Amino acid sequence: MKKWVYLFNEIKEIERATGGNWDDVKALVGGKGAGLFDMTRAGVPVPPFFTITTQACNEYQKAGKFPAGMWDQVLSALKQVEKKTGKKFGDPKNPLLVSCRSGAKFSMPGMMDTVLNIGLTDETAAGMVKLTGNPRFVYDSYRRLIEMFGAVVLGIPDEAFEEPLKEYKAKKGYKLDTEMTADDWKHMVGVFREAVKEHKGFDFPQDPFKQLELATEAVFKSWNGKRAIDYRNHEHIPHDLGTAVNIVTMVFGNMGDDSGTGVAFTRNPSTGDKKMMGEYLLNAQGEDVVAGIRNTDQIENLKNHMPEVYKQFMDITSKLEKHYKEMQDVEFTIEHGKLWMLQTRNGKRTAKSAVKIAVDMANEGLITRDEAVQRITPDQVDALLHPQFDEQALKNSEKSGALFAKGVNASPGAAVGQVYFDADIAEKMSKENKQDVIMVRPFTKPDDVHGMIAAKGVLTSEGGATSHAAVVARQFGIPCVVGASAIRIDLEKREMNVGEKTVKEGDWISVDGTTGNVFIGKIPMTAPSLEEQTELLTLLKWADEICSRPNMRVAPKGWPTRGLQVWANADYPKDARRARSYGAVGIGLCRTEHMFFEPERLPIVQRMILADSSAERTKALNELLPFQRKDFDGLFEAMDGCPVIIRLIDPPLHEFMPDEEKLFEEVVTMRVKGETAGLKEKEDLLAAIKGMHESNPMMGLRGVRLSISMPEIVEMQVRAIFEAAADCTKRGITVKPEVMIPLTGTVKELEWIQPRLIRIASAVMDEKKVNFHYKFGTMIEIPRAAVTAGEIAQHAEFFSFGTNDLTQMTFGYSRDDAERNFLVTYVEQGILPKNPFQTLDRTGVGRLMKMAIEDGRTSRLELEVGICGEHGGDPDSIEWCHLIGNNYVSCSPFRVPIARLAAAHAALKYAPKKAAKPAKKVVKAKTVKMKTKAKSVRRKK
Ligand code: PEP
Ligand code: MG
Repeated sequence: MKKWVYLFNEIKEIERATGGNWDDVKALVGGKGAGLFDMTRAGVPVPPFFTITTQACNEYQKAGKFPAGMWDQVLSALKQVEKKTGKKFGDPKNPLLVSCRSGAKFSMPGMMDTVLNIGLTDETAAGMVKLTGNPRFVYDSYRRLIEMFGAVVLGIPDEAFEEPLKEYKAKKGYKLDTEMTADDWKHMVGVFREAVKEHKGFDFPQDPFKQLELATEAVFKSWNGKRAIDYRNHEHIPHDLGTAVNIVTMVFGNMGDDSGTGVAFTRNPSTGDKKMMGEYLLNAQGEDVVAGIRNTDQIENLKNHMPEVYKQFMDITSKLEKHYKEMQDVEFTIEHGKLWMLQTRNGKRTAKSAVKIAVDMANEGLITRDEAVQRITPDQVDALLHPQFDEQALKNSEKSGALFAKGVNASPGAAVGQVYFDADIAEKMSKENKQDVIMVRPFTKPDDVHGMIAAKGVLTSEGGATSHAAVVARQFGIPCVVGASAIRIDLEKREMNVGEKTVKEGDWISVDGTTGNVFIGKIPMTAPSLEEQTELLTLLKWADEICSRPNMRVAPKGWPTRGLQVWANADYPKDARRARSYGAVGIGLCRTEHMFFEPERLPIVQRMILADSSAERTKALNELLPFQRKDFDGLFEAMDGCPVIIRLIDPPLHEFMPDEEKLFEEVVTMRVKGETAGLKEKEDLLAAIKGMHESNPMMGLRGVRLSISMPEIVEMQVRAIFEAAADCTKRGITVKPEVMIPLTGTVKELEWIQPRLIRIASAVMDEKKVNFHYKFGTMIEIPRAAVTAGEIAQHAEFFSFGTNDLTQMTFGYSRDDAERNFLVTYVEQGILPKNPFQTLDRTGVGRLMKMAIEDGRTSRLELEVGICGEHGGDPDSIEWCHLIGNNYVSCSPFRVPIARLAAAHAALKYAPKKAAKPAKKVVKAKTVKMKTKAKSVRRKK
């Protein structure tokens, strides 16, 4: 008989069934279950429990019913729990109550369902009153069961319970739930049971086993609930994993003032500071803490209330952190002075906190530097480079009285958007109307997650740092302020007020998740400075160190064996300086034509294009030369000692000319109005532009083709490059110019143009009496170039993959229109796995690249290979470049840190075992060992 259920002491059986790999243990019994089993084995006080496997859930999804034998196994496990606790399920004399908790392999906080207090019926409730002498606690627990069961299992709207409770409290003049007496709760039990009957037409089940069965089924079903599916889609969690169900003996934090419940993180999930951060409530049940309805106490204060329990708690959590080598997020309950741990899992955290914790843990010797680097995702680095409010603008807003409210700074970052008061509208406005949205709610529930994901920022008037809104926002990197309690939200009028100030739906606000301030209106934002983020800088330094290790790649002789370098695409010295400060060690693409668009240059460029003779063209080009020389001089200076690839002019010339349609309109208007002054010039210009018209300009006279038909332009550019390089050399700057010829399709093009350009380079060096090393190379962005790379490499000293064009031309998809027209549908329909303009298509475009490198290096072993299309900043594409033997990737300066991390990830992932050793030996911290017998179990992170 297949085993669907594991008892609290059966971790060994689970490890046997899964082969012992911790990842597989989690896949079978869920993350929460694995934590409970592991804690139990280590002697941590965990209430007796058993777990129904994810496999049972998957069987249930297929068949719509529990798999054969599962329920019998549940009943026999329940018997064992009864034995261990000395209580009996459904027995009024000494009833066992249990919770039914979801728990998938990957934590999906709040996305699935949980039911507490299962086993309470009229009969067992009466029995418990006798047993505990605490009717208030019993009826409070009972009404919670009906409420949760009603909402989760029976699908009754929350309001059916919340509204009557609100009315009752108002009638009694109570503000807080704590003012409710035993009789009050007993009354509410009756009211809630009526509500169930009214909505469902049947009574709340008085059979505890029926309750357990239906609750288990509801948890299974919640795996495929909308919010769980949305969450998995967003987090790229596969849909076929299923959830486990943990049936755990209830322990009660609401048994009086010697009881309590809380949640805590072993380090600060917002900042990463190494200090326990948590909240607890005396005389309360778990959801009271997370819901943010009652004001919680900081965990430090538990020291004053229950010093012994506090000490035990700190001791256990510190062991847990060292055992898992990760910041833990724990849930606990104290029942009559006894501490119970209900959950431990790796805590969700902001990007800032993740980086600090990883770096600190490596410095503490808990993990290696390589592990620290592996723990951070490129997305987290991206989030850290997200915009913040401009400091001066922020001060001005404060001074001008735009500060609207202050709350808890739950998730850092700045967000500006229009206010919407519910998740559906927020999502609609963002998706359909493309608005920047701030979702504002009194508090959020799991049903609101889709609105949060669509929003630029989130604001709530209730809740604390561990409330649902805070936890979810932190996870998604959405700036968030919670508990801004001065705000009164009027959901009817669709507005919110603080005193005299009103913000209506659709109004703009600015939310500062770093400070907790909320402002009326839009505050400009600035890019954050990487220089100030010391931990991130350390982590990136470690990433570079990984990439620079020799023998990280198994490669043919003469090919690079270290990891990838990261270069940047930069056109101007200021971009180059930023790129360098972000860690780029070269410029992989300077698009020189961008410089032609500057206002004082464009008229000269146009004159050059329209020139009738070569002499006239040369005259205009001579005027452009000093501009270009100055540009290149700045680039070489900024990149002193690093290679700088300068691409010769690429786009079709019409791009530098006025818009044809607009010009035509102007000409017609002048003709109609009879204006003659300047008409002839405009008519001539129009005729010239018409003459340049091409049906397919992207496949037309551009790139090297343009250089061949009008060599004067590139001759000027090469002169400017080498004059600037010579001048810089004389000033003591080390220059490494690399001249890149775009859009090559046949080697003959290089044979035609390159010698002319080299002659100019040599001439300039002679004139200036300086010598420096330089390279001539080409872009590989036409499939034919990739296919004939062996020939091309006989002339080109380097290749740079222009994967924007290479993708366009390999697929035959226009890079300007495909996204708008059909690509989205293609991805949605699964015809393409991803947008190939964002993530390299390995099987097609990627294969061409691989071939091109192999053939290229057969002709020229030392061939330098890079990529400068947009894919150079995409982690998945970077991995491919690592695998096929690129020397470097080049991306926009802002993505350089992400690329450095992604390059290190690729290097570690594919390193031969020996090479992957960190350079520095890590000194093991003194760890207090948990009493675990699992030493032989390998934990895969
Ligand atoms: C490319 O095609 O990938 C490239 C970098 O060139 P551009 O985007 O300028 O065409
Ligand atoms: Mg291109």
